Amino acid sequence: MSSSAQPLEPEFLQAYDEIVSSLRDSTLFEEFPKYEKVLPIVSVPERIIQFRVTWENDKGEQEVAPGFRVQFNSAKGPYKGGLRFHPTVNLSILKFLGFEQIFKNALTGLDMGGAKGGLSVDLKGRSDNEIRRICASFMRELSRHIGQDTDVPAGDIGVGGREIGYLFGAYRAYKNSWEGVLTGKGLNWGGSLIRPEATGYGLVYYTQAMIDYATKGKESFAGKRVAISGSGNVAQYAALKVIELGGNVLSLSDSKGAIVTESGITSEQIAAIAEAKIKFKSLEQIVEEYSVFAENRVKYIPGARPWTHVGKVDIALPCATQNEISGDEAKALVAAGVKFVAEGSNMGSTPEAIRVFETARSTSNSVPDAVWYVGGKASNLGGVLVSGLEMAQNSQRITWTREDVDKELKRGMINCFNDCINAAKKYNKETNENTLPSLVKGANLASFIKVADA
Ligand code: GLU
Repeated sequence: MSSSAQPLEPEFLQAYDEIVSSLRDSTLFEEFPKYEKVLPIVSVPERIIQFRVTWENDKGEQEVAPGFRVQFNSAKGPYKGGLRFHPTVNLSILKFLGFEQIFKNALTGLDMGGAKGGLSVDLKGRSDNEIRRICASFMRELSRHIGQDTDVPAGDIGVGGREIGYLFGAYRAYKNSWEGVLTGKGLNWGGSLIRPEATGYGLVYYTQAMIDYATKGKESFAGKRVAISGSGNVAQYAALKVIELGGNVLSLSDSKGAIVTESGITSEQIAAIAEAKIKFKSLEQIVEEYSVFAENRVKYIPGARPWTHVGKVDIALPCATQNEISGDEAKALVAAGVKFVAEGSNMGSTPEAIRVFETARSTSNSVPDAVWYVGGKASNLGGVLVSGLEMAQNSQRITWTREDVDKELKRGMINCFNDCINAAKKYNKETNENTLPSLVKGANLASFIKVADA
């Protein structure tokens, strides 16, 4: 049975094949043939909206770019998922992200369907004013198709707090209605505490659950060497939480290069990166210009990803974008001693990389030697989980405390970890007493069952 992929949709096919191979390797379809019938149905988006976005740039010229919203599946609740504003945005990327989002959202334990949208545009170097005009034009069309009980977008690559603000303002103006129609809003206009931190923190909580399980509670992040890629919202908060828990952050990166250091990236350096990224500065520029980097030097490697440049490594947290660990890089990480790999990005590992990690897990004779890998649909769901909590707060017209949201986030990540373990133990044929269960298969099985049941 094939997916609904059109020619030239390689990323969507990759995401689809990953789920299907997990299901076919399991006993699920043998035990319950009804589940197999759901596969072709869930592979077709319920609705794809494509529209023209035009705006006047700061030079007074007219510009145009294609905008999209893929409303993939609403079996479990209103469509939910981010908006990506990036030159690489196309239907294959958005169908893969929307498809992943269906299953990720199911694993949060909250009732949300799956969607993704975006605009094929490069925001770098554009003024705040021009970005506001782009967001308003995007929302002029999108506002017809979304609503607090219909479809609730949020941020993703290229869409942060600033863009959500412009989009939300435009929605209110077009619809004459204040509703919780977007998540990731500012704190004084309907946002939730811990939403900016949620994806990065949640990734670290999930990884902590992996460490607890594999070491029977004997180890933690303390003293661990942690390679992180990316330098956006997810990477920043993952790094801050790792530092808080006593780990050593060896690297960060952007699309142009990586920074690596033996002494550990500091929280002051991360604060500088957060401030400079809003102004579209590259890591190379930030390292040159900010004094916190002069005092505690890091090495900038142009054109590189961190994986082969960090020396010995215990934990790898890819937090940049899809397919950011190749098969060869996965082999290098395993050779460098990596024990835990958890994705903050969506589909961060190529199929070859997943095979390398999964082989290193299943062929290892002892748990301490094993490599344990989990895909983003489980380990990065903290963001959308707290988005779900933001929707609940908006509906209740109240705001929860930082402690309450963080507690729910932690609980959600641990519940998801347990769901993955239990599904792998129950349905994955290869699971046995001597090896760690496959979290990638467990996540695919647990989430597929939730969606299929709905
Ligand atoms: N873009 C994020 C993700 O990939 C968050 C989506 C949301 O909060 O709706 O899960």
